[in-house]
Amino acid sequence: MTGLPKGEAVQDDKLHEECGVFGVFGHPDSGALTVLGLHALQHRGQEAAGIVTYHDGHFVSERHPGLVGDIFGGKNAARALNLKGSFAIGHNRYSTAGGSAPRNIQPMFADLTGGGLALAHNGNLTNARTLRAELVGEGRIFQSTSDTEVIIHLAARSRYKPIVDRLIDALKQVEGAYSLVALTSKKLIGVRDPWGVRPLVLGRLDQAYILASETCALDIIGAELVRDVAPGEMIVITKDGIESYYPFQKQPNRFCVFEYIYFSRPDSVVEGRNVYELRKRTGAELAREAPAGADMVIPVPDSSIPAAIGYAAEAKLPFELGIIRNHYVGRTFIEPTDGIRNFGVKKKHNPNRATLQGKRVVLIDDSIVRGTTSKKIVQMVRDAGAAEVHFRVASPPTAHSCFYGVDTPNTADLLAHQMDVEGMRRLIGADSLAFITMDGLYRAMGEGRRNTAAPQFCDACFSGAYPIELTDITGGAGRGQLSLLADVA
Ligand code: SF4
Repeated sequence: MTGLPKGEAVQDDKLHEECGVFGVFGHPDSGALTVLGLHALQHRGQEAAGIVTYHDGHFVSERHPGLVGDIFGGKNAARALNLKGSFAIGHNRYSTAGGSAPRNIQPMFADLTGGGLALAHNGNLTNARTLRAELVGEGRIFQSTSDTEVIIHLAARSRYKPIVDRLIDALKQVEGAYSLVALTSKKLIGVRDPWGVRPLVLGRLDQAYILASETCALDIIGAELVRDVAPGEMIVITKDGIESYYPFQKQPNRFCVFEYIYFSRPDSVVEGRNVYELRKRTGAELAREAPAGADMVIPVPDSSIPAAIGYAAEAKLPFELGIIRNHYVGRTFIEPTDGIRNFGVKKKHNPNRATLQGKRVVLIDDSIVRGTTSKKIVQMVRDAGAAEVHFRVASPPTAHSCFYGVDTPNTADLLAHQMDVEGMRRLIGADSLAFITMDGLYRAMGEGRRNTAAPQFCDACFSGAYPIELTDITGGAGRGQLSLLADVA
């Protein structure tokens, strides 16, 4: 395996999902279908991808750094042909540089007493470091820094014999957010953590069953949505059909509200809600809560387009593409020479001058993380001739880090943690700045208002109310997401 291309990453100042998962049971082209599924889930992780199939008594694996199309397309097309077998699981990975070592690429697999187990994980365990220290103390040797391997070690040391029981035993010991797909020699397994933080859906393609992070991965292969895997549910698929178990203590649902704001693809249906429609409703709520005297509404493309459409419709203002996005800039964009650095945000966004000239604009973005990009975009729109820039954000201020499977800066680096809204407005240079309120966000989600005693979603990055124990932090093991660490002592 080769390493990731070196170069200056384009800082888009967004939160990032760490993973997408996909699984197929009972289709002769399971490997090829998984390539397509992972391609549709590429937005959930762009640094590496892997697929494991089971064929003729063995796990077959292809796990490589890069984008799905590069890993399994063109001169690498033969890799997909290697993936024989009628069941498969796959994984897209996002990680920071240190965590992108080939040894961390999933799915991971191991031979356990009772058979082999391959595992792919979306989420983050909040007691992984604590468990890992315990396992290492017992003499277990880790080959990666991923928290997924913790689950495999826990399953390996379980005293139960059947693989499904071993996996349940392991998952009863972990805390945090997970949507898993697992493969044995006879079974495809899908599990969501009891709070249901990350998504996982069940689909059907002819006689085959599909598991996927989002419905857009069902659409690409022509599969139909059967239903969401429920929070705390384990689905076990065999040649005899589907069995459903609820082996964990029931917990209140805390689906990640940021999936609707930014992470999930707008064409996905997540927990019964169409993401695009919810984003438009968020924009409409924002227009009611924070109107602005302006001539037009423009999105920071692409993720903010639905919210801007909703804002414009509610405010009865024209929706315009005042900023054009270059789609050919990846996260590993390489600066050609030292001499032409600092093109900054213009590598990705360019103002549409003819549209902006002399106009008062409402600029819609889905979030402000560090504020670095927001500042540059406001300046860019002003330089292109806009008379006024009113910045509106389709999420409440992001003031807290996420520990449930999303790459977030440290809390101290989040702009909303450092200053109030007026301070942020001054820093980014807007004429006015407003965020949707928490209740406005919940209204857009169809919830009336936030239930402060028992919020209907995880909204911890806005509220600081973490629904799942942060044992690795509160237990003194140190702050950080194990899956993002290059080295763990
Ligand atoms: S903290 Fe924020 S990003 Fe993380 S799971 Fe909760 S809502 Fe989602």
